[in-house]
Amino acid sequence: EYRPLSAVIAPVSLEDRTQKRQSIVGAPLPHIPEGIEGCIGNTPLFKIKSLSEATGRTILAKAEFLNGAGGSPKDRVALNMIKMAEEAGLLTPGQGDTIYEGTVGSTGISLATLARARGYKAYICMPNDQSTEKSDLLHHLGATVERVMPAPITSTEHFVNLAATRARQQTASGNDAGKGFFADQFESVANYTAHLQTTGPEIYQQTGGQINAFVSGAGTGGTISGVAMHLKQHMGMGKDLKVVLADPEGSGLFNKIKYGVMFSSTEREGTRRRQQVDTIVEGIGINRITENFEAGRELIDDAVKVSDLQAMKMARWLVEKDGIFVGSSSAVNCVAAVVTALQMPEGSRVVTILCDSGTRHLTKFWKKIGEIGLEKEHDQADLATLLDIQ
Ligand code: PMP
Repeated sequence: EYRPLSAVIAPVSLEDRTQKRQSIVGAPLPHIPEGIEGCIGNTPLFKIKSLSEATGRTILAKAEFLNGAGGSPKDRVALNMIKMAEEAGLLTPGQGDTIYEGTVGSTGISLATLARARGYKAYICMPNDQSTEKSDLLHHLGATVERVMPAPITSTEHFVNLAATRARQQTASGNDAGKGFFADQFESVANYTAHLQTTGPEIYQQTGGQINAFVSGAGTGGTISGVAMHLKQHMGMGKDLKVVLADPEGSGLFNKIKYGVMFSSTEREGTRRRQQVDTIVEGIGINRITENFEAGRELIDDAVKVSDLQAMKMARWLVEKDGIFVGSSSAVNCVAAVVTALQMPEGSRVVTILCDSGTRHLTKFWKKIGEIGLEKEHDQADLATLLDIQ
């Protein structure tokens, strides 16, 4: 027998309604965020049920894709960079100042959003091999986007160096266009301190400090350094908490953590990640040591290398089993979280980060997943076999 929901739910009586209204009238006003900036941070931490069941360990995810401005942990960083620049007099609201940044996307989206909210212009330099969702979104947010050919960091044409040059040019021009501010997410300490002051403390509070491992990839390194610093400061520097880097193919960070050197003799520091291995993972993995990575490098205890195929299988698994639809860096994090969890005693608690939504990655990462049709494999494999974890 078909029954609509309205037929099942008991109607609210007039008496109930009056009582409810009276109880609300006397209640204190709840806190209401001030603008979109007020929706940054305090993201939920939740248990990924399927991964926890499959591993016998508790795998917890910090839902950073729910940050309310640009939908990634970069909201925290962008806000901190802007506030610090304002305090230092490098940016002044309402003067037509422009924020310049070199970014593969997420930071640009956060900066462009906050630039709108605070009365600035945004100028974003990004490599032209990133998914078009991100550059399209930047356009709609009103940012000027300069898409450049991928180049090594030693080149003046590298997207980060170009953003610095553009900022300098604007300030030097001295015209009415306002100042140019180079946000510099890779080298500026405003990046990791945002995570040290917000993401780290939130994770500590949300878990009551009961964590055995924290697993994260690194682009700028801001997230892993800032979170590791806070957690290790509060949990003791001993063996209590293991911090693990999740690293995609082509990145030199895995070698740096495991063996102390980034490259074998055939590879060169500063070469682009995609020059070495063509990978569809965006936002993490890098072939140089940034200030933000260096800030927390000694706090990282181990590293896990994750292949594109493992990341794609994980992304598919998460959407099928849990309805969680994420981008590539989140999937890499989850693979490394499972590998880490399986190396720890049963019942251990592992925390990782879900950086951004799969909707940012429809045309590359998710298209590829669709093309190679991973669905069928799930039926025949347990998680470790599926991911080819030894
Ligand atoms: N995931 C995505 C989607 C990103 O854009 C970034 C930043 N480039 C990261 C993860 C890595 O974060 P971090 O820069 O703090 O290392």
